[in-house]
Amino acid sequence: MVGPLDGIAGAPGVVVAVALVLEQGKGSVPRRSILSHEKDAELARFREAVEEAQLQIGEVHGRVADTLPEEHLKILEAYQSMLGDPTLAQAVQDEVVVKGRNAEWAVEVAVQDILRQFDALDDPYLRERRHDVEFVGERLMRALVAAQPLPTAPKLATQTTPLARPIRRATPPLGVIVQAPTVVVARDLSPADTAAMMRDPIVGFVTEVGTRTSHTSIMARALEIPAVVGVSGVVGHVRTGDLVVVDGLRGQVWVRPTPDVTAKARARAERFVSRNQVLRSRHREPAALACGTRISLLANVELPSEATLALEHGAEGIGLYRTEFLYIDRKELPTEDEQYELYRTIAQLAAPRPVTLRTFDLGNDKLATKVPVPDEANPALGTRAVRLALREPELFLVQLRAMARAAAHGDVKVMIPMVSHLDEVRAVRRLMDRALAELAAEGKPHRRPSLGVMIEVPSAAVCADLFAREAEFFSLGTNDLVQYALAADRGSHELARLASSFDPSILRLVRMTVKAAVDGNIPVSVCGAMASDPLAAVLLVGMGVRSLSMEAAAIVEIKEAIRRFSLEECEALATECRALATASEVEMALAESIAPRLSDMLGADDMTIPPPQAW
Ligand code: PEP
Ligand code: MG
Repeated sequence: MVGPLDGIAGAPGVVVAVALVLEQGKGSVPRRSILSHEKDAELARFREAVEEAQLQIGEVHGRVADTLPEEHLKILEAYQSMLGDPTLAQAVQDEVVVKGRNAEWAVEVAVQDILRQFDALDDPYLRERRHDVEFVGERLMRALVAAQPLPTAPKLATQTTPLARPIRRATPPLGVIVQAPTVVVARDLSPADTAAMMRDPIVGFVTEVGTRTSHTSIMARALEIPAVVGVSGVVGHVRTGDLVVVDGLRGQVWVRPTPDVTAKARARAERFVSRNQVLRSRHREPAALACGTRISLLANVELPSEATLALEHGAEGIGLYRTEFLYIDRKELPTEDEQYELYRTIAQLAAPRPVTLRTFDLGNDKLATKVPVPDEANPALGTRAVRLALREPELFLVQLRAMARAAAHGDVKVMIPMVSHLDEVRAVRRLMDRALAELAAEGKPHRRPSLGVMIEVPSAAVCADLFAREAEFFSLGTNDLVQYALAADRGSHELARLASSFDPSILRLVRMTVKAAVDGNIPVSVCGAMASDPLAAVLLVGMGVRSLSMEAAAIVEIKEAIRRFSLEECEALATECRALATASEVEMALAESIAPRLSDMLGADDMTIPPPQAW
């Protein structure tokens, strides 16, 4: 047994299942110089591997054709044609025939050569496709190395616990055929991989990189799949087919666990599942503190299909719709009509509840083919989100027009990400005015949506009183606020301890923002991951927040957490915490004063939910 390996609890739940290691370590490629008479056989092996990989991707395409959006299907089709690309075939042939290398070695060299050519190019579309070349190379290599279909997880269904959150399951990463419930173990998972994981039977994720606020964790929580991220060196400890325990409550992983560890993990998984069933059965109950004070719980949504799920979980609206996913991994920009249809559908689905559409937060790690981003040394501090939108006003206008048209069908609000200067709010407002004037002139139905800002850059929090005069609402993006205030990359597990949302600087920035909103008489909510952490949620309520937006699956849990405290208790806790000097002191105070009442939510073994309180 290896473990426990410590990581970060990325998405809650406990699962015991076999592993599928997505990245083989370097050196696993068998390299062999071949004799002349072997050349034809090696070329034939290559051709068979191409066919096999194409076939398997085709099978995945067939299975998901009805459920995945068009753009994801197009990626699968692109992978199939990349596999059959004559440039790749020629390069492999040269390696085999001229240099006398075996097929695996030839593929490795050919793919590396193509990647080098991609690196030398400036075109953002091609840069984005680099990942796809790597992916295709890996599929091909697996087909060759295994001399059998892509790695299939052994049929060990009987060794698998029930899914931690049974109502949604994941699809295998593109092109991988998985037969049994499987835990994907990888160094990292790309947005393309994670966004496509929506079907059976992926039941857990383990990655070497990432934090609770990194993309993989956000997606895993949205998909309701237990995940542990930031587990250093885990890929080196696991082989495909090993049994693993993923404890997404405590952030721990065991490889080839002993029967005792397995039994305990299964018991925890079962307790978690039944606890969730109880919580879910209460999803219609109001979100309120023990004293009756109402707290509004809304959902964060990345993909259109999540909106329905969110409302089923009892969300009182969509507090954050991350529209940038509409632009990622596609060759053409989404048109105004396409965006309008989508936003309108969501607005109608949610009505009369509100929907907050965030204008695209592209740039940094979320790149779109058709939206050029300058080459920058520090993309997280670069031309991202509203900065990119204002650099491309015509393109941005298309989105604003679509949003204004959708606003005619429901309570639609528009939110601007990564605002750091008031000038940006003014510029967006001018563009929105132009969009409204154009729509009026064209006779297209529309309505002015309220325009709010994300407070996720310290300058905006510090000047929140000034922003409150011109923004119609605030939403605190604590994921980025923590990253920028503490100068700690939100994806770096090395810095995860530094990047604490309980740091006094963050509590002060949150408090300043809430006060400015209250004084300026505008609504304020929190949509960063702080909102879905039970301890932080109680603290935020104590700091004056009355609206929290989070991944759909967390809503029932946060509802349960807040109902155990009165407003007086929350406020006393916030006063106590605001006087403390370090994040650890705050965490300690929370651990002493409120954690015992939330132990069933914080990874403790006792997951019994107390009966509902009356108020
Ligand atoms: C945030 O930064 O807290 C946020 C909600 O936005 P995102 O995670 O999409 O950057
Ligand atoms: Mg953000």
